[in-house]
Amino acid sequence: EEDADILARYLDGDEDEEDEAPLPVLAIVGRPNVGKSTLVNRILGRREAVVEDVPGVTRDRVSYRAEWMGREFTIVDTGGWEHDAKGIHASVAAQAEMAVDVADAVLLVVEATVGATATDEAVVKMLRRKKKPVVLVANKVDSELVEAEASALWGLGFGEPHPVSALHGRGAADMLDAVMEVLPDVSAFGGVPERGGPRRVALIGRPNVGKSSLLNKTAGAERVVVDDLAGTTRDPVDELVELGGRQWRFVDTAGIRRRQHMAHGADFYASLRTQTALDRAEVAVVLLAVDEVLSEQDVRILQMAIDSGRALVLAFNKWDLLDDERRRYLEREIERDLAHVAWAPRVNLSAKTGWHKDKLVPALDTALEGWETRISTSRLNAFLGELVAAHPHPVRGGKQPRILFATQASSRPPKFVLFTSGFLDPGYRRFITRRLRETFGFVGTPIEVSMRVRE
Ligand code: GDP
Ligand code: GDP
Repeated sequence: EEDADILARYLDGDEDEEDEAPLPVLAIVGRPNVGKSTLVNRILGRREAVVEDVPGVTRDRVSYRAEWMGREFTIVDTGGWEHDAKGIHASVAAQAEMAVDVADAVLLVVEATVGATATDEAVVKMLRRKKKPVVLVANKVDSELVEAEASALWGLGFGEPHPVSALHGRGAADMLDAVMEVLPDVSAFGGVPERGGPRRVALIGRPNVGKSSLLNKTAGAERVVVDDLAGTTRDPVDELVELGGRQWRFVDTAGIRRRQHMAHGADFYASLRTQTALDRAEVAVVLLAVDEVLSEQDVRILQMAIDSGRALVLAFNKWDLLDDERRRYLEREIERDLAHVAWAPRVNLSAKTGWHKDKLVPALDTALEGWETRISTSRLNAFLGELVAAHPHPVRGGKQPRILFATQASSRPPKFVLFTSGFLDPGYRRFITRRLRETFGFVGTPIEVSMRVRE
């Protein structure tokens, strides 16, 4: 009865959440200390300021999933950015612009009791140009006494200022209602990921690994810039690239082609672009350069790709620069630092000479195939039956957890659910995962194995 219901739900519906349209994006902007981070925590329902900021260290987390009245959206948090003490007005506005460029609506935070400063004005000017919906927040209105001061902010031209106390929560509900009115249901800049169209590829990697070189080499003169975002923003822009006789959609190539001459916030911007591109892609090509050691940034970008649940190809660029000594070192690096992505196809190439660029397509195809693989319930259970018979779960405290039934809940990427009679050891779950890969391939895709314990 109850079990049957749960199984039925997994078997015929609720699958492929990833195929849903991209969530609308809300950017929180304003000058330092107006309370942006506090407000983000308030919206996310977090008690303390969990945003841990080590000065000079890039935060890789730049966006968060939020919900209000059953509607989900993504918040891009710009609190905690570092700014130049000199030229701070321009710096704040420029960094806010990056977030606004990938957002569907903006929450502009101003401090009620201080009013609009020169820095606020710089942000306001930028926002007027962007023509995106703006909800104006007069923050730090901790009591009714200061509410009147908020009304001076009508003058900014973004309509009614919403008096809020991010610290105590006052006014937050009304503010969120106002946000919901301007936020579209589906992200306009992302476009609905369509099936059947050209495959969407995110080409990602730290600066200077050769992303734009590779793009130039593969796209050549044939490149077609796609800008289907008329009326919203010209950013981001995709390119249709012909590879192996087929068209591929390289997402957000504008982010690759646009050179950033910004000392501060450049890393943040790069992370934001990477995350945005991944959100919109089906497969990620993480580009690494063989003439330099794997940096922390390389590893972080790779982790973002893995976490995104997209199909994955690792490409090692600048192969023309590889000498014997470096080659030996590189092999050790790969074994040590990339062991956890041994499942991703690897391509060695040179964007400069074009060597092996034709190897990219087979790798992309393989990864996408693994990503979309679906194992029938009967095949999966037959496989698990044999596996468990040959390698039973160890007995723990006189009990032996059993796998009652398993099903693949979704693909893109493959996710499996095991219904068990008790908790499986993490080691045993890893063993099952490894055997799933060995048996069914799953080259180039992350897979997830979760457990439902039925008593
Ligand atoms: P950010 O730089 O814009 O992200 O600002 P923070 O969120 O770090 O806040 C800056 C300071 O303002 C912190 O000390 C907060 O505790 C304080 N603050 C934020 N919101 C409020 C509020 O609504 N009322 C009061 N009184 N203080 C606040
Ligand atoms: P991006 O920042 O990732 O877009 O990197 P670029 O494409 O701008 O490349 C950074 C530098 O590496 C440039 O000087 C390129 O000429 C050089 N480069 C890119 N690919 C290769 C390659 O395959 N071999 C060599 N030798 N240099 C390359």
